[in-house]
Formats: sequence, structure tokens, C-alpha cells
Amino acid sequence: PARTARPSDDPIFALNREATARKSKGEAVVNATVGALLDDAGRLAILPSTARAIHEVPDAEWAAYAPIAGTPEFVRAVIDDLFSLTPELAAAACGVATPGGTGALRHAIANFLEPGQKLLTTSYYWGPYQTLADEGDRGIETFRMFDDDGGLDIAALDAALGAQLARQGRALLFLNDPCHNPTGYSMSMEEWEKVAAVLARHAEKAPVTLLSDMAYFTFADGEPRAFMRFLAPLLGKCGLLFAWSASKSFTHYGLRVGALVACEPDPVERARVEAALTYSCRGTWSNCNRGGLYAVTKLLTDPALKAACDAERNALKENLRARVAAFNAKAKGKLRYPRYDGGFFVTVFADDAEARAARMREKGVFVVPGKGTLRVALCGVAEKDIDTLVAALAD
Ligand code: PLP
Repeated sequence: PARTARPSDDPIFALNREATARKSKGEAVVNATVGALLDDAGRLAILPSTARAIHEVPDAEWAAYAPIAGTPEFVRAVIDDLFSLTPELAAAACGVATPGGTGALRHAIANFLEPGQKLLTTSYYWGPYQTLADEGDRGIETFRMFDDDGGLDIAALDAALGAQLARQGRALLFLNDPCHNPTGYSMSMEEWEKVAAVLARHAEKAPVTLLSDMAYFTFADGEPRAFMRFLAPLLGKCGLLFAWSASKSFTHYGLRVGALVACEPDPVERARVEAALTYSCRGTWSNCNRGGLYAVTKLLTDPALKAACDAERNALKENLRARVAAFNAKAKGKLRYPRYDGGFFVTVFADDAEARAARMREKGVFVVPGKGTLRVALCGVAEKDIDTLVAALAD
């Protein structure tokens, strides 16, 4: 009975379907709904070296089961990829393969909260966080994401974490950074340092776990792993989880390859965490597709392939950067939105977002309405369409 009123359709996929149907009838449509990177002709942007590596996976790798926790080579490759700047985190890490970053988030919720407890995240967040919590009989609570100066509201995080620990005796914090979905915000190193200090202080009182959702990290400007040096001192004091995904990094969303990595310095504790995560794999999807793990392991560990993917991804990043620059140039002063330096999305603050989005749809411009927000997936909009997009948003 508790599940009879659940909506079957993800709202973002439903909007995308309508946009695609209208476009196929010849209408001029700007579709800024789905979080997949498209080229300027509206086709899915695919890293050719990744596609080639996937086609070269031997038949037997596709056919056979993978180990429940994923192949050890895959888990090792992800750990090495995540912690290239922080060997102390690498030395304390264990992990399991998951179907995309989504599977990693699922396992974090199931293993680091008890039923009925709530995860904590920013007031703007990727909608499926709520779905994943609901599905696992957990809940979600938020803290105000931006302070009055437009930076991360650290005081709000501090207060929310304190209140949550007082109420439920433990906390699981989801932070999606860099290139936050849906706002496009990337935290500064000063903000990371302050967040780490808040976590360290609260973790003295009760168990606190941070989950870094790194779905978009390869699309950030600068060194996307730099923030980890502020997390390394938390080792052993605060739970550290990392949701890694090949979906965006390797432009293969449908391959469903991801991982949940946990850092725990005590080997006995670490073995318990690894066992619990492995148990969760068996209790949900059993194992991930072995061919996908094989291909992604190669992409991460073969120096020539890795270099080719990096170069191809850099070209995509340049294209995305040009869109971001065009958006900022047109939208500054006209629209209210957080600092937007790069990434797949930006969020425009708007009253009456549902009605606005509906009016924009009449003009053939599709964005995703939220509470007081319109999410704009620039990853799917050609640079030439950004004028139309901004004009529709500003109307
Ligand atoms: N986290 C965020 C914020 C996302 O936007 C996404 C995908 O859109 C994911 C995690 C997980 O993606 P996937 O399961 O495809 O790896």
C-alpha cells in the first residue's frame, strides 16, 4: 500500500521525450533537459577511444559473470584514479563496482544510515537523491546551499549537521562537487577547507560520513582532485565515501559502470565495510556487467588509451566551456544564477518556475522546473542556440 501512489515517470526523462517528439516533427526545439553531453549538431558526444575500447572487449568478458564486488583490477584502477594526489587515502581505500554513480549512492544510503534516518545535502540537489532515499526507506534533509554573498553557506551546514546528529545520532552528508548538479557551482578550496573543519568538529561527537558525489569531476576546470587534501586529515575520524562514475567521464551513460569507494585506515574496520558493501551488491544487482568493467579498467590503466581519452575529453570540455562563456555573456545582469564556471548544468532562480517552464515550452525551449528554479542543461545546447535560450529564460 505504501507504494501505490508512486509516479512511474522521471520528470526529466518525460520532458526530454516531449522535446524529442516535437523536434522530430520539424519544430525548432532547444532541449536543455537531460544531463548528457551533445555535440553542436545535437548528437550524443562520444569519446572515440572509449567506444573503440568497448568494441574490443572479448566476447568471454561480456558473457561471464563479474565477481560480486567487481573485478579487483577495476576497483584498484578506480582507487588509483581517485587518489592520485592523496596516497594516504589510497592506502586506506576499499570499494565495490556499482551500476553507475547511482548504484554507489544507493549503497551509501543503505549502509551508512539506519532505516528511517535522513541523509543531509544542499538545498539544491539532484532529484534522484530523494528517490534513492525513499526507495531505501530513508529520508532526506537539506541545508541552505548559498549564503547572501553567493558562496556555500557553511554556517547553515554546521547548524544542520548539529541538529541532525542531535536527532538521529549519526549523519551522512552528500556533497556533489565539482560541477554541482543542478546549480553548476564548484566549491572553492577555502570552502572545502571550512567544510572539512566543520566535519572534523562534529565527528568528535558522533559518527559522520561524507559522500563526495564525483559524477562530473572530469569536466571541472583545474585539478578536480585538489579538494581531497582537505579530506585526508579526516581519515579515521570521519567516514569518507566517494561515488565514482564512468557515465559522464567516458561518455558512456548506458554502460552503467561506477564504484563506491570507502576510506578507512583500520584494516579490521575496512574489511567490515568492504564486506557490507559486497553484501549489498549481492542483495541488489548481484554483479555489474563484466565487459563494462573490463573496458573501463583498460581506459584507466593503459597509458596510451588514457592519454587519448584525456585529449578527446579536453576537446569536449572546450566546447562546453564556449557554451558556458556564451551563457555568462548573455545572462549576466538579466538572470539570477550562482557563479557558473563550468559543468553540464546551471540553475536560474525564478519565481513560479512551473508556469515559466510551461510558457518556455510553448516557444520550444525545454528546461527543468524545480522549487523556485529552472535547471538548464547547457551540455545539450549548441552555442548558436544560447541566445534563444537566454531570451526565453529572461522573458
Ligand atoms: N550524481 C549526480 C549529481 C548526477 O547528476 C548523476 C547522473 O546524472 C549521477 C550521480 C549518477 O549517474 P550514473 O548513475 O549515470 O553514473
